[in-house]
Amino acid sequence: MKAVQFSDHGDRSVIEYDEFPDPTPDRDEVLVDVKAGALNHLDVWTRKGLPGLTLDMPHVPGSDAAGVVLEVGEDVTRFEPGDRVAVSAGVYCGKCEYCRHGEYTMCVNFHVIGEHVRGVHSERAAIPEDNLVEVPTGVEWETAAAAPLVFQTAWRMLLSRGNVSPGEDVLVLGASGGVGHAAVQVADYAGANVYATASSEEKLDHARDLGADHVIDYEAEDFADRIRDLTGKRGVDVVVDHVGAATWRDSLKSLAKGGRLLTCGATTGGTPNTDINRIFWNQLKVIGSTMANPGEADDVLELVWDGTIEPRIRETLPMSETARAHEMLEDREGFGKVVVVPDSEYDR
Ligand SMILES: [Zn+2]
Repeated sequence: MKAVQFSDHGDRSVIEYDEFPDPTPDRDEVLVDVKAGALNHLDVWTRKGLPGLTLDMPHVPGSDAAGVVLEVGEDVTRFEPGDRVAVSAGVYCGKCEYCRHGEYTMCVNFHVIGEHVRGVHSERAAIPEDNLVEVPTGVEWETAAAAPLVFQTAWRMLLSRGNVSPGEDVLVLGASGGVGHAAVQVADYAGANVYATASSEEKLDHARDLGADHVIDYEAEDFADRIRDLTGKRGVDVVVDHVGAATWRDSLKSLAKGGRLLTCGATTGGTPNTDINRIFWNQLKVIGSTMANPGEADDVLELVWDGTIEPRIRETLPMSETARAHEMLEDREGFGKVVVVPDSEYDR
């Protein structure tokens, strides 16, 4: 079969789309005929290499995908050949102290398909049963592939971890990215008053369309100053910051007293200059969040499948053009998710 892969970490030129041994499912795994995959910023980090991350090379990237079940291992009970499924990429042990309390994303062995172990951007993939969700008939493959990682991340971060409630002011930074555009929709669904930043009029229009009540062009104006103006100097109750080093201080500055800073990523770097005085004086909370528990993923995906909320597709490319997909993410071109489809699907 063909798979996206790389044998060394490095720039976009290390990415290839080439032959790879066909996967065979273990007892607890399902073999999936992949119809579409979606990119996440973590694909860029994985390609570049992360400290402490040692991968089996060549590595197949990809945490999001959807397709049809071809074959199931003997212990699999939830799926059978022909079922439509999507990947939910968080892998947990089910046995540790945290898993026993139902906090699967805090598992001491928590890892992510595509980041720490072989991913799913290939014609076929063997995936643990626990990492698959059912996709109803009628849902487009692009939607099914694009939704799981970012929507479950936004859902847990805003609702379970951030406790966002109706009427609160929520600022979402980088609303054009995958997590950002999901967070705008989840915050709006929760009844919050949503503020969103992006870098162009076109992206801000998309953000408005998805539920942002106020939009800020962060390249044209200082977003922390703008938030002070828009909120009568009070600040917002919650900031969603997956940008990291470039925005951290201004995120703290944008918060009202007692406000919560939610973080689930750091695309511009993870060691920002910070302002401890502001944290204690204003009694701020910094709250981390990663992925979601299976039940949280089920809850948000139900809303995606019925069309209440939706991933926006920025571009769909053949898997052989995955390097171009990375370029779009790195250069922040467009709005929403980049989808990749096995080249062979175009010939069918
Ligand atoms: Zn565990």
